[in-house]
Amino acid sequence: MIDDEYGVRSGIGQILEMEGYAVELAATGREALALLDQRCFDIALIDYQLPDVDGLTLLATMRSRKLPTMTCMITAYANIDTAIAATRQGIDFFLPKPFSPDDLLGVMETLSRHKRLKEEAEKLRRENEASLLALATEKSQTSSLVSSLRDAVLVINREREVVLANHAMAELLGHEQKDLLRKPVDAVLAEASLAGLADLLAASGDDDRNVSELTIGERILFAGAVTFRGDDGVAMGRILTLADVTEMRRMAMEKPRFIRTMVHEFRSPLGAIRSLIEVALDKSLGGELAPYLPFLERADHRIDKMVELIGDLLSLSRIDLERAATAPVHSTDLSTCVVSIIDLYREKMATHQLVFSSVIAPGLPALRIADEDLKTILGNLVGNAIKYSRDKGAVRISASRAESDIAIDVVDSGIGIKPESLTRLFEEFFREKRPETRDIEGNGLGLAIVKRLVERAGGRVEVASVLGQGSTFRVVLPASPV
Ligand code: ADP
Repeated sequence: MIDDEYGVRSGIGQILEMEGYAVELAATGREALALLDQRCFDIALIDYQLPDVDGLTLLATMRSRKLPTMTCMITAYANIDTAIAATRQGIDFFLPKPFSPDDLLGVMETLSRHKRLKEEAEKLRRENEASLLALATEKSQTSSLVSSLRDAVLVINREREVVLANHAMAELLGHEQKDLLRKPVDAVLAEASLAGLADLLAASGDDDRNVSELTIGERILFAGAVTFRGDDGVAMGRILTLADVTEMRRMAMEKPRFIRTMVHEFRSPLGAIRSLIEVALDKSLGGELAPYLPFLERADHRIDKMVELIGDLLSLSRIDLERAATAPVHSTDLSTCVVSIIDLYREKMATHQLVFSSVIAPGLPALRIADEDLKTILGNLVGNAIKYSRDKGAVRISASRAESDIAIDVVDSGIGIKPESLTRLFEEFFREKRPETRDIEGNGLGLAIVKRLVERAGGRVEVASVLGQGSTFRVVLPASPV
């Protein structure tokens, strides 16, 4: 209650307190502002004429502070101008003097009711805003979730219109995501030569789930459609998902091929060994041992090769098994490894009069790979470089930095590789069949092992070759953290 006249101020104060209101009194505008600074008031009754700050200025200040207080102007000089001016400053009520206690209490009641309503409206607005925000967040979360799925997803409503298509589906249908919305699904599918899927989507009632498989060019897709229902169980539309199973199928087909080749790799040397032993068993060369020795030696060599094959197969399966486990962090020095590889092949290189050189850039960091794995990788690559070289050729190992990784090149001046073989070189059992390779022994597993070990260490392997001139195998491996 702000009034400079003591009698009015305290009189109104008493009436209100008797009615249960908690009242503070102020005689001047400044006093009122000081009180408003300290506490939050529900209602302010303001005399129009105050000695210092006038009622209108006080109202303007309260408004600029965005106070939630309801205001009522009390004045003996009520005229239309004052009313307009006060309304402009956001006054809630106007009470001309003189007024009766009942008039005052009536105004107070109205103001209290308005205040409550205003507060409730504000609360509702805030709640509404929060739930709209939650809804928008949920909507955008759902849409980014569906969008980031690798499977293609399409949702249609009961009118068979597209209501949602994720990125993968839009790409498959050859449209922008937004252009698909509200389009009749049958037309969209027909346009993309996927009319067969329309039947899958058409099923309803008991056919809640349907699946089928389709081939688009090189891709094999697994299609599933399901009815989605509202909380009341009423069907609202259908969801179609398409998963690309090409790679899975390829892998499934790979397995029998691998086993067939493996059986062949065992059967042919076993057949040869049996024939060699049969010569001795038949005693076709007489009763002495000596004539049979070359046959037994050849059988023995074949057995060695089979043992090697078993070792390589075990390595492959071990790498695959270990791939899933978390690899321990290793740190291997390349130079030491190269020295041990040179030692291993020194004799062979001398036999074929091969010139060997190694150029390792100074200050290279250690490699993040197990010592044993790096030796297997380089051993296989240098072994091949020697095997597929001509006498008096050259083999070189060089290593340098490749951004944050390290690139190791194994270069030979040998027989080279046919361009069409380059993509198949790292497959299990792949061997180039050429007159030059006919007499070179091998089982076609070495490069498969190299590729798996390199990839397990987080690196990659590449090959470049000029037929008849030589090949370069490049292994890129990450540097060890410290
Ligand atoms: P293997 O040498 O036992 O046959 P690999 O997996 O090591 O098996 O190699 C697969 C094939 O790649 C070889 O049979 C050969 O045809 C080709 N190859 C590998 N390294 C070289 C090379 N340095 N020069 C020419 N051909 C190579």
